[in-house]
Amino acid sequence: MRLDKFLVHAGVGSRKEVQRLIRGKQVQINTVVVSSSKATVVPETDQVQVAGTMVSYQQFYYYMLNKPTGVLSATTDPQQRTVIDLLAPAEQRADLFPVGRLDKDTTGLLILTNDGQLAHRLLSPRQQVDKVYRALVTGVVTTADQQRFATGLTTKAGNTFAPAKLQILAVDNSQQQSQIEVTLHEGKFHEVKRLFQAVGKEVLTLQRRQMGHLQLDPTLAAGTYRALSAAEVTELQ
Ligand code: URA
Repeated sequence: MRLDKFLVHAGVGSRKEVQRLIRGKQVQINTVVVSSSKATVVPETDQVQVAGTMVSYQQFYYYMLNKPTGVLSATTDPQQRTVIDLLAPAEQRADLFPVGRLDKDTTGLLILTNDGQLAHRLLSPRQQVDKVYRALVTGVVTTADQQRFATGLTTKAGNTFAPAKLQILAVDNSQQQSQIEVTLHEGKFHEVKRLFQAVGKEVLTLQRRQMGHLQLDPTLAAGTYRALSAAEVTELQ
């Protein structure tokens, strides 16, 4: 990898800034001071120092965010806050993106990464990775609803949904509301909301709790995040 690219990736600075450092003989690969941005680095084995400080290189970044309501699952937006805006400025790398989208009013587990392969694996319907949601919905959810979810639903408009597991957690007959957990692996646009619409119910609140084996960390307050551990990343792969 080119030295300037390596330093930009490592978060040392912009391409222009790192080129200035290299020209200024501030950069050393192993024991040799280099003055060309075109010098090459093997990230796994070379030791690179900038002004005497070792640079550590990480190719991929993985964060678990507890998404709050009112924030877009996007990388940039001219008007509204995005999930990337919730990261500390030093961690807002240009190549980070959310793995899948949660609606603006949906909360819970969102993975932010720059690892496209992992994102594809988690989202591809072929991989059948479970996504688990908790929701408060209008009406009394019944075993008939559970069966319709379990066999796969076709809406009046002809939209089809793959089988999903629907668990009834609590029913409030007086309020005519139900708390449920639904497990899907498809991830179609507004899928949970449209599934409930198909059985005559409305989703009032929706939270994602799990993706694959990764559960939302209960110690993360809404709007906060943490890096995934190496073990968590391995488990997702
Ligand atoms: N299903 C929805 O309807 N909304 C989400 O944000 C996620 C799944």
